[in-house]
Amino acid sequence: MFESYHQSGLNQAFPQHFRSPLRRVTRRQPCEVCGKGDWCSIRADGSAAICMRVISDRPTHNGGYLHILRYDDLPAPQRLKPKPPKPKPATERADDERVIAVYADLLRAHLVLSKQHRQQLHARGLDAIGVNGYASVPTVIYGTNVARALAREHDLRGVPGFYLSGGNWRMVDCGIGFFVPVRGVDGRLRGMQVRRDEGEPRYLWFSSAGREGGASSGAPVHYAGAYLLKSTDDVTLTEGALKADVASFLLGAPVIAAAGVSTFGDDFAANLKQQFPNIKTCHIAFDADFRTKSQVKAALERLMRQLVAAGFHAQVRTWNSALGKGIDDYLLHLLHAERRAG
Ligand SMILES: [Zn+2]
Repeated sequence: MFESYHQSGLNQAFPQHFRSPLRRVTRRQPCEVCGKGDWCSIRADGSAAICMRVISDRPTHNGGYLHILRYDDLPAPQRLKPKPPKPKPATERADDERVIAVYADLLRAHLVLSKQHRQQLHARGLDAIGVNGYASVPTVIYGTNVARALAREHDLRGVPGFYLSGGNWRMVDCGIGFFVPVRGVDGRLRGMQVRRDEGEPRYLWFSSAGREGGASSGAPVHYAGAYLLKSTDDVTLTEGALKADVASFLLGAPVIAAAGVSTFGDDFAANLKQQFPNIKTCHIAFDADFRTKSQVKAALERLMRQLVAAGFHAQVRTWNSALGKGIDDYLLHLLHAERRAG
């Protein structure tokens, strides 16, 4: 199984990671990347792993991905160029119940959160409860297996992120990163964003728009701490589901996020007021650069007008940008400062 891997040319690219033999993982010595005790392999010296479940930018010929666990004197990794998808006739997005059922099954029963991603999320201020539902993007081979397994239980037509290829269901290739579940006012799944480890754009929607049987994500608005909406006087609005999750977790309060400042939608404020008349104030907490980016400023003014028209008191929150670019960074800074003060 690993002979082809040794002949793949990666030997020249990563010589120091081929000194030590590969060993299959066991339940006692599980994969360093996905934490599972089967299918993956690890270098005997612990310098690298070939994970069959979590993608990296270094594919191996056995369908797994090389994860360097120790960075010694590594040359720049080779990057993969994504193939542009061919346009296909549009499919209607599946209804919410079907999307919820598929994503819940995907996140709960099939995907894992890698140790590295868990550490990244902890560094942002989330603990084990805070990272609930997060999962690393699977390898291509594992993603294909998962799509096949899901298709046996669910109708995947119109579920964003899945598409048909040669009569078989596939999961879109999202690059390397982790899924951030996007939840509606009821706290249930509406979509997923992918936070990529590197490259631009940093955030992608889990979408199969333009592919056979696929559908667009619909760019839903994310409600972090949704269960608190009924009993709160004020909410915070920001951009980005991950930022909202971190801010909500650190504040112990609901935080609502669109993917961007301009994507809350025209009837966002009116709908929010109708569903939660208890909410009086909306704190707007966008990244500190809104003051310098004219496009962001214009979108912010439109959102303010919409909120005021719906009967909210709208307040722009500002903070010293040297202490954190986003509201999540700023809150984490405050938390650390508090801890230091004892
Ligand atoms: Zn693994």
